Amino acid sequence: MERGHRGGAHSSTAAVQATNDDAATSKLSCVNKGYIKDDYVHLFVRKQIRRAPIINRGYYARWAVLRKLLLQFLNTQTDERKQILCLGAGFDTTYFQLLDEGIPPHLYVELDFKEVTSKKAAIIEHYSQLREKLGPDASISREKGEVASSNYMLLPIDIRDVQKLDDMIKITQLDPSLPTFIIAECVLIYLDPASTRSIAGWAASKFSTAIFFLYEQINPDDAFGEQMIKNLESRGCALLGINATPTLVSKERLFIDQGWQRSVAWDMLRIYDEFIDIEERRRIERLELFDEFEEWHMMQEHYCVAYGINDHKGLFDNFGFSKD
Ligand code: SAM
Repeated sequence: MERGHRGGAHSSTAAVQATNDDAATSKLSCVNKGYIKDDYVHLFVRKQIRRAPIINRGYYARWAVLRKLLLQFLNTQTDERKQILCLGAGFDTTYFQLLDEGIPPHLYVELDFKEVTSKKAAIIEHYSQLREKLGPDASISREKGEVASSNYMLLPIDIRDVQKLDDMIKITQLDPSLPTFIIAECVLIYLDPASTRSIAGWAASKFSTAIFFLYEQINPDDAFGEQMIKNLESRGCALLGINATPTLVSKERLFIDQGWQRSVAWDMLRIYDEFIDIEERRRIERLELFDEFEEWHMMQEHYCVAYGINDHKGLFDNFGFSKD
């Protein structure tokens, strides 16, 4: 087990990988209560756990903002094929959902540590409802932690190794000139800041028509933030990146400094109130008794979505939070 020490913060690779089980368990809790639709996440969860209403609502908001921005990207008018690259994908099932909805991108690539991709490959191989979606030519290797099919690829890569990211482009035949949506959902914040900068810079220099979507924590310096950090540190998964980008402005700067043309960051409170569809909010707010309003506000102020945009072909004028 690798241990990193940053100003007293402890991070173990195994504990960071385990955050994926947590995310999948919470997403399943949301599915079971009717917050979100995901016909596959239950295949990735061993023990179902019912989360508190505030956690369900938080995961719903996380799922809804990613989904809404992803659909904006997929609906962007262009004759070109589209690609999605998911960094630290964990047990995310978006590809299978997009297939069911008839809107998969031309190529969907997922990366994670081998310990995680091996488990994901094994589950995809085991369940016909996943395996058969990849077509008869798909090759699946639990040992290598790899899945390869014509439209979906899963690879074991430590994303801190930028040389490996370059190799990945060749292996997967991602075409850096095509419109690409890059997802980093609760991933980069676990990395040391230099790695995060080099990943953001690598992506900016490779993909000229792209969106880089980031969902992660902010505001470490108030009482709630300090407690949030302590909780994660006690589990061995310190937020190594949070002090380098503690605010919305610094998340936007991360992208601009690394070569992205535009960048926007909003906290999840604003996103919930102003971006997530009001009919959807009304629907999910009726699902469970909820009286933790003060806690909800604080929690949502400590998570954000930031995105960087490279738009050399002028495709993304209508992309983003304020463009509805
Ligand atoms: N993105 C998924 C989601 O939101 O459901 C999983 C999020 S989970 C909190 C973080 C994931 O990032 C884990 O699966 C972990 O293994 C992966 N991860 C963290 N550091 C990584 C690295 N250096 N290289 C590859 N994957 C990494």
